[in-house]
Amino acid sequence: MDERTPTIVRANSIVSQARTRPGAQKSLATPDPTASSALEPEALAITGETISATGTLTELRDRFPAAEVLDFGDSTIIPGLNDAHIHLALTAGDALHLDLSHEAVRDVPTLLDTIAAEVGTTSAGAWVKGSRYDDEKTGIVLRDELDRIAPETPVLVNHVAGHWGVVNSAGLRFLGIDESSPDPDGGRNDRYSDGRLNGKLIERALMNVLMPATARGERFIPGDTVEDLQLGAARTIAKWNAAGLTSICDALISPQDIGILSALRADDALGLRIGMLLSIDHYDKAAEVGIGSGFGDDRLKLIGVKAFLDGAIGGRTCLLSEPFTDPSYQGVQTTSTEELRVNVERVHTDGNRIGVHANGDAAIRLVLDAFEDVAARIPRPGLRHRIEHCSLIDDDILNRMNRLGAVAIPFAGYPGYHGGALNSWYGEERMERMFAHRSFLDAGVTVAGSSDYPCGPYQPLFGLQSLVTRTGVDDGITVGASQKVTAAEALSIFTLGSAEASGEESYKGRLAPGYLADFTVLGDNPLTIDPHGIADIDVRATYVGGSEVYRG
Ligand SMILES: [Zn+2]
Repeated sequence: MDERTPTIVRANSIVSQARTRPGAQKSLATPDPTASSALEPEALAITGETISATGTLTELRDRFPAAEVLDFGDSTIIPGLNDAHIHLALTAGDALHLDLSHEAVRDVPTLLDTIAAEVGTTSAGAWVKGSRYDDEKTGIVLRDELDRIAPETPVLVNHVAGHWGVVNSAGLRFLGIDESSPDPDGGRNDRYSDGRLNGKLIERALMNVLMPATARGERFIPGDTVEDLQLGAARTIAKWNAAGLTSICDALISPQDIGILSALRADDALGLRIGMLLSIDHYDKAAEVGIGSGFGDDRLKLIGVKAFLDGAIGGRTCLLSEPFTDPSYQGVQTTSTEELRVNVERVHTDGNRIGVHANGDAAIRLVLDAFEDVAARIPRPGLRHRIEHCSLIDDDILNRMNRLGAVAIPFAGYPGYHGGALNSWYGEERMERMFAHRSFLDAGVTVAGSSDYPCGPYQPLFGLQSLVTRTGVDDGITVGASQKVTAAEALSIFTLGSAEASGEESYKGRLAPGYLADFTVLGDNPLTIDPHGIADIDVRATYVGGSEVYRG
């Protein structure tokens, strides 16, 4: 067959975003959606990995008479969804363990039944491990509850955010932790109010007993091997494809993770384009051998470096200029300003992109100080740094980001996931300035779509719905309503915005000639249905580089 003969793809509607200029997402919010859809192509011609032509079906058939037509019937085709900040490497192991997420187990009895069933099929001495447990949503599970269903088998229940886990008595015995054991530095063996160990191992207390992939020992919870993790990553990628994702940026990568993903790349098993932010802890080595932003190819590529500055939204530890409800508490700075400045200067000087985790407005200002300082002294035209999360903003922050060309990567799904809890944590006034997608678009600041999974649901359609409705799916409470965006804008955020955040906007995020043939086939049009139904739209197929990676 002639290699240049394209495949023609058609569907009931195609949302191409072809006329949206990168860097001007706002112009996509066409005031008249009917006028815009009249100009959309009926079909795409795909040659190899890219889109070679678009037009009416008749035009493309006339032009390529030998082409096969792939007809998606009444579906809607959108540009492939792209999550600019998600954690594949950190969660690859989860796919090997029991799924104790709130989606999978709604309450404590179901969670315990799930574990009990696994205990029944586990050989003596082996651990039963579960992950993604969310105590706030599912309810409290501690040592005593686990002991009732697993008196002999060691059990670990890992919290969704990864900072703590719960083990049962058999687990504590295995690890040699008893009532007299002291707390480790930087961690705590938590206790019931009567002073007994409750099985909750917090921070270092948990980290110290998780076996590193390379080590062997008796007092460790057995870790996953590199082969296990490779399998876990492949399973996770398949799940994400099924949710419509074609690209991601993994926001914290170690050298071992690069090895795991490279092995999948070599096996041609990467059904997802993966950008990577390398942990700043490993930057020295990479810089030494000259590996920087852009290293790799359009399947697996280093996007830049990741650094941290403050705490979290859910944990209420982000660094704020005005206190939380407790007037003496304004959150935490996890890295010194001096260290931040040194790291930003180093990475910037090398011509590499840095993404700094900063949630609170006070943290964001420190990041902007550092960005502005190096940009003034060491020009690196076209180099656009990122602020990961960039949760709480004001006009001054927007203006400074705009001048720098800095990219915002805020949580898309948090309003939908946390709902009214956000109001009680941060206050209604502040919620009008948090996850401020509307403000970023209006100010001309590039804004990307991100779930930060496992901290929020990974499904990008959930993110789109949350961006448009700003309403909690469980409690129906709307938070920060002034930050709502249109469905067309939400789609552009999760496609073009994310592509800009990794410097790939010239070939990703649109269904237009010269762009990658990455697209998602949906059972309904997210731009025209009731936005409260966007998360439930059926993903019918996902294509990466013209190849099917998922079919529903
Ligand atoms: Zn993250």
